[in-house]
Amino acid sequence: MIIGSHVNFNKEQLLGCVKQALSFGANTFMFYTGAPQNTVRKEIDLDLTKQAFNYMKENNIDINNVICHAPYIINLANKEKEDSWNFSISFLKNEINRINMMQVKYIVVHPGNSLKLDKMDALHNISDALNLVIDENTIPMILIETMAGKGSECGINIYELKEIYNNIILKDKVGFCLDTCHLNDSGVDISDFDSYLDEFEEQIGIEKIKCVHINDSKNDLGMKKDRHANLGYGTIGFNNLINVIYNPRLKNVPKILETPWIGEYPPYKIEIDMIKSKKFNSNLENDVKKLYE
Ligand code: FE
Ligand code: FE
Ligand code: ZN
Repeated sequence: MIIGSHVNFNKEQLLGCVKQALSFGANTFMFYTGAPQNTVRKEIDLDLTKQAFNYMKENNIDINNVICHAPYIINLANKEKEDSWNFSISFLKNEINRINMMQVKYIVVHPGNSLKLDKMDALHNISDALNLVIDENTIPMILIETMAGKGSECGINIYELKEIYNNIILKDKVGFCLDTCHLNDSGVDISDFDSYLDEFEEQIGIEKIKCVHINDSKNDLGMKKDRHANLGYGTIGFNNLINVIYNPRLKNVPKILETPWIGEYPPYKIEIDMIKSKKFNSNLENDVKKLYE
């Protein structure tokens, strides 16, 4: 099983990410190369990157399973303000160059918001943008994340994802990232996850799923909200999430937790223990506090 969580890209950059991941008992991780909500970025430190690589080797973390997440303020879907659309494209290109320096192979991108645009036009803008970002020499694969359906989000069901994908020129450079909270909130019943995979296989192909975000949801099925909950503390439920994590059809796909922190502490060590033992921990809050206080 390839399991990890979101980690912080702090002063120690990739090395800091590896240290956090190992402290959670993880064998992979996902990071933003700066703050998720803005585009301020520091230069990649090659010395820290080298140290991170040595540390990964010693601890059996394969860089091929490590995921980067692009900041969520970039919007590839709306072209009404041509400047900001162009900015999103050049920022994403730049981000790809940065993660190349760290040999990271996957970058998750939110498809974006259509705002006042017609949905179909917005979906085509996303494909157009990705066609401008990607060329034959692009190494990391761009993973389009499935969204909850909040506001004017694009990519909220398999058909919208397929519409984006169909207009991609270099299809081998694009894949998908599922998110269990987003699926639930968009109306996919996670207790019947295999039916979703069947549909995905028929429309796009399961081999295109390269990452799964594992989150419970604070909202009921189809509420179009996107608020993550800790494993077993939401409406999806622990056993349904375990069935996604251990689903044999997604065996070698990295699973990444993006569940909320308990106050100032990350819950991931305890949640990863729950996943490994397949046993729900009803004392999450206390156990997390015990770990860090
Ligand atoms: Fe995301
Ligand atoms: Fe996610
Ligand atoms: Zn989310």
